Amino acid sequence: MTKKYDYIVIGGGSGGVASARKAASFGIKVLLIEGKYIGGTCVNVGCVPKKIMWNTAELAETIHDAKDYGFNIKYEIKYKNFDLKKLKDERDAYIEKLHGIYEKNLKDSGVERINGFAEFISEKEIEVNGERYTADHILISTGGYPVIPEIPGSEFGITSDGVFKLEKIPDKVAIVGAGYIAVEFAGIFQNLGSHVTCIIRKDRLLKEFDKDIQDFLFEELINSGVEIIANTEISSVERNDKGFLTLKSKDGKSSLGYDALIWAIGRKPNIENLKLEKAKVKVNEKGYIIVDEYENTTSKGIYAVGDVTGKKGLTPVAIAAGRRLSRRLFNNEAELKLDYNNIPGVVFSHPPIGTIGFTEEKAVEKYKIENIKTYKTVFTNMYHAVTKRKTKTMMKLITLKPNEKIIGIQIIGIGADEMLQGFSVAVKMGATKKDFDETVAIHPTAAEELVTLT
Ligand code: FAD
Ligand code: NDP
Repeated sequence: MTKKYDYIVIGGGSGGVASARKAASFGIKVLLIEGKYIGGTCVNVGCVPKKIMWNTAELAETIHDAKDYGFNIKYEIKYKNFDLKKLKDERDAYIEKLHGIYEKNLKDSGVERINGFAEFISEKEIEVNGERYTADHILISTGGYPVIPEIPGSEFGITSDGVFKLEKIPDKVAIVGAGYIAVEFAGIFQNLGSHVTCIIRKDRLLKEFDKDIQDFLFEELINSGVEIIANTEISSVERNDKGFLTLKSKDGKSSLGYDALIWAIGRKPNIENLKLEKAKVKVNEKGYIIVDEYENTTSKGIYAVGDVTGKKGLTPVAIAAGRRLSRRLFNNEAELKLDYNNIPGVVFSHPPIGTIGFTEEKAVEKYKIENIKTYKTVFTNMYHAVTKRKTKTMMKLITLKPNEKIIGIQIIGIGADEMLQGFSVAVKMGATKKDFDETVAIHPTAAEELVTLT
């Protein structure tokens, strides 16, 4: 017998849980289906464990600098001196606690939840563990998974999922890729005492980012001791009997002696097992589910949000899109949709990057150079007043003439991660440079530079 619901959500990650709970708050009957672990990528193998690792790496920097602040600290940053197993146990326990909170929240919200992988039988029917379910409205929020290249020996490497299984810090780690995950892990492992080599196929990191941000990050990574091998594509990997890896590149060169290799070359959408063709849900050439601005797929009554759509792979985006969808469908807010403009984001590199709106290059491309005025500052954070180790901060406001509306903020430096959220509100509200100028600075902070730029 087919069980009937008002709303079925496939995938219990950031987008799915948010949408299911919001829908249930309107008194309808909701079923959530999750194949693996509740909370999805973010909670289990993404934002949460990554942020704990990033905090740990920040702490390592602080311990290092503490000597310059007069503390008699003996700790030396070396991979052998750090107990990753202990941290992993604590981290896993925290994630386990989050699972409990998620399950309780779903229950309290009245969402029914089953374990298993869903597949479509028809446009209105799905099957999980041999049972059939139907609803007038079905959401696909199945997220994605990390890519492993199809080259000989690629199985000797791990992806971000594998990083969170490590119990020892590698001595020498190669990270392939130049995106978010590559630069975040590069900073983390370098700070925890590994020798990090980033292998990138072009000559830039974070290719969609502001060029100044790219240049600063490149320099900061090099200054911190990370080696960057540019314009190099790996063609095969070999492992010797002692477990050390040799990476061979397409130009015939070899790079050797690694005890860990991380593939950070992007993610693909989780669509393989859904049998989307039976539901007439179309995907694009990269496999992402095609949706319109209201998150409708090509099949009536079926929607998709989050990473599986390939729109913007961030947890708050999946959550915001999922919640708005439920309000549109079940709370008579017929025109409600997520505005994908001015979405702030942070890269948890060392130092972190915060961005919202246009990069300088994209602003010039769209509005022409004569209509753009950019304000920029480069400085050394006062944190470094007494430290031998130094990092630089770069901040940029990109404004649109004639009234100098702020259409982009680009920051790299200590505190960028926490600084940006408040400024994002101002950008979203249409603030101008004059509004920033008229705001009294908070001293001494790094953030004050953003309201004192000339
Ligand atoms: P997911 O969270 O991936 O959830 C999808 C769920 O669907 C999964 O639990 C999966 O098991 C389930 N599923 C798949 N197929 C089926 C099926 N057929 N039936 C039932 N269930 C199924 N974002 C940030 O905003 N900030 C960060 O700092 C950040 N750091 C990250 C670090 C890493 C290492 C990674 C990998 C990602 C990071 N992200 C970060 C991105 C963020 O995790 C994702 O954008 C977010 O999790 C997407 O949510 P989602 O709901 O679309 O998918
Ligand atoms: P990204 O899409 O950010 O970057 C993928 C990188 O892999 C690019 O630099 C690309 O290089 C490179 N690449 C692709 N194919 C190959 C190949 N065959 N050989 C070598 N390099 C290759 O993916 P990530 O995996 O880093 O992250 C996935 C997504 O997860 C992010 O886009 C983001 O949405 C989300 N995320 C968000 C975080 C945050 O908010 N802080 C943190 C981590 C992830 P090239 O530049 O040369 O094209």
